[in-house]
Amino acid sequence: MIKSITGTKDILPEDIQRWNFLESIVEKVFASFNYKEIRTPVFEETALFARGIGEATDIVGKEMYTFIDRSETSITLKPEMTASVVRAFVEHSLGTKQPLNKLFYISPMFRQERPQAGRFRQFHQFGAEAIGSNSPLLDAEMIQMAFDIFKLLGLKDVSVKINSLGVPESREKYKELLRNYLFDKKDNLSEDSRMRFEKNILRIFDSKIECDREIMKNAPLLIDYLDEESKNDFEIVKEALTRGNIPFEIDPKLVRGLDYYTKTTFEIVSEKVGSQSALCGGGRYDLLIEQLGGKPTPGVGFAAGIERILLACENEKAFSIPESSIDLYITRLDKELEKFVYDIASYFRRENFIVEIDYLDRSVKAQMREANKLGSRYVLFAGGEEFQNGLLNLKNMADGIQKTFDKNNLEEIKNYLKK
Ligand code: AMP
Repeated sequence: MIKSITGTKDILPEDIQRWNFLESIVEKVFASFNYKEIRTPVFEETALFARGIGEATDIVGKEMYTFIDRSETSITLKPEMTASVVRAFVEHSLGTKQPLNKLFYISPMFRQERPQAGRFRQFHQFGAEAIGSNSPLLDAEMIQMAFDIFKLLGLKDVSVKINSLGVPESREKYKELLRNYLFDKKDNLSEDSRMRFEKNILRIFDSKIECDREIMKNAPLLIDYLDEESKNDFEIVKEALTRGNIPFEIDPKLVRGLDYYTKTTFEIVSEKVGSQSALCGGGRYDLLIEQLGGKPTPGVGFAAGIERILLACENEKAFSIPESSIDLYITRLDKELEKFVYDIASYFRRENFIVEIDYLDRSVKAQMREANKLGSRYVLFAGGEEFQNGLLNLKNMADGIQKTFDKNNLEEIKNYLKK
């Protein structure tokens, strides 16, 4: 038997209502901040991600689903959305149409990571990008939106961590400091971190390995070496969060995996999902648009993982979905009535009722059982003497009250159901 690919997951009808509920909240919150939806293709030219995310990152280095297609083009399934959104922004000159573009998305992403709880190879993110302004209030807006979504979902156990990575000049100076600090210690670093020392030194802060952590404990911190502008912007973000009643902590070791971040970065983590605790992450990327061939344009955004959020919601029992039910089940006595029942079901469906009928030749008793199982509000019965006399019997399943109607006057039944 052919099975689904490791790290992918079917979303079955029994799960879909939770997804729909989450997506409805996401859309509502983004709409209230005037973000407009954008959809981009599932695959892009590999160069976009290599250039946009950075060759030295884990994503580009070891996680991308990359293949050569039949026309010898190197294609990659999108591992994240920002590069794709920026590509679309540049390609369609969105910046000339309006100075600030506020965009949101809900989309599948692909990364060949080791699957575990909360980590998949096809997963889904929602997120937002605001391109065209360097206002730190937009950084705060990103955190606010993510926080509002989590709150509306009923999540309580989340914490916001923020940091600033400064502008490239101050960061480069700081990296030199860090390099000096680590120079005589680097032989004691893990192999991965020794590689990061050469390629992406900030990422050593991400290491979960004890020997790395021990060494990094006393490392100088970027936040203590910020330039004035980044420092001021960071203050504005913190003040806005405080005014918005969003509790946060400053995490000077939050460097995030992607190369393109400048100034504010943030993560929101849940205590309720085990080791993969980040529900969302984001930050400012003032250099990315230029890097991808656009005019220098500042931007800020975040991405949140839907599977992880739903896991956190489940573990916190954050929300519950009401049992689904239908409005009307139409039962029939004889097989000859099958077509009649099919046609009147169509009538009620067109009138916006949720209607079910029997397709399995079941007995009236079994049809009633099915109506009960589906939680039908009403059952309409066709058959027997009543039907011979031109009547249909309607039963209200909540109180058991029955009423007969002329079978040629469906409108009367419709009006009764609507009451
Ligand atoms: P990133 O794009 O790496 O900053 O990730 C943003 C969010 O996407 C994370 O906080 C997770 O919630 C989610 N995420 C990232 N990678 C995975 C994965 N492999 N499986 C499930 N969720 C993921």
